[in-house]
Amino acid sequence: MLDQKLFFKDLLDYSSSKSNLSKKLDVKKMPRLSEIIGNDDEPSTVTVDVTLKLNDQLNPRISGEITASLSLTCQRCLGSLYWNETINYSVDFIKEAGFQTGQNNVDYISINDDGIMLLDLLEDEVLSSIPMSIMHKNIELCENIDKLGMFLQSSDEKTEKKNKPFSDLSEILGKDGN
Ligand SMILES: [Zn+2]
Repeated sequence: MLDQKLFFKDLLDYSSSKSNLSKKLDVKKMPRLSEIIGNDDEPSTVTVDVTLKLNDQLNPRISGEITASLSLTCQRCLGSLYWNETINYSVDFIKEAGFQTGQNNVDYISINDDGIMLLDLLEDEVLSSIPMSIMHKNIELCENIDKLGMFLQSSDEKTEKKNKPFSDLSEILGKDGN
């Protein structure tokens, strides 16, 4: 059901009989998500809980919960970080031609003759929940920045004479220059 193209009529059918499903999704089938996921030992998983039922206007509504555990890239240190999130979503569908005013403040998707893949919609929900600049919660968890910070700190603490990590380097560079 999720990776099939559905038309408004299909959505109505599923919703009229109130369809429910829980499924662990194949992340590889979500190309936009796959692009930002790292290849870590711990696999990224997306589990969805989907309910299709009619809303008050007798239009189809998809709602439920998405549990995402994704291996993402920290935007500060470019190291990997693990992002766990439970996403609650609810989206109403309307038939494009049947759009009428008075449906304000409703999160809806208008379905035209092209139909919709629910997997795309679920992927959208996950993508829009990922913070724009996702980072490790604490800078000390960052990989490279952490090491750099410790390095600078330790070199500051020691006396100039005893430990000047760059002086050797500049000597070498100076010698090479001559
Ligand atoms: Zn980081």
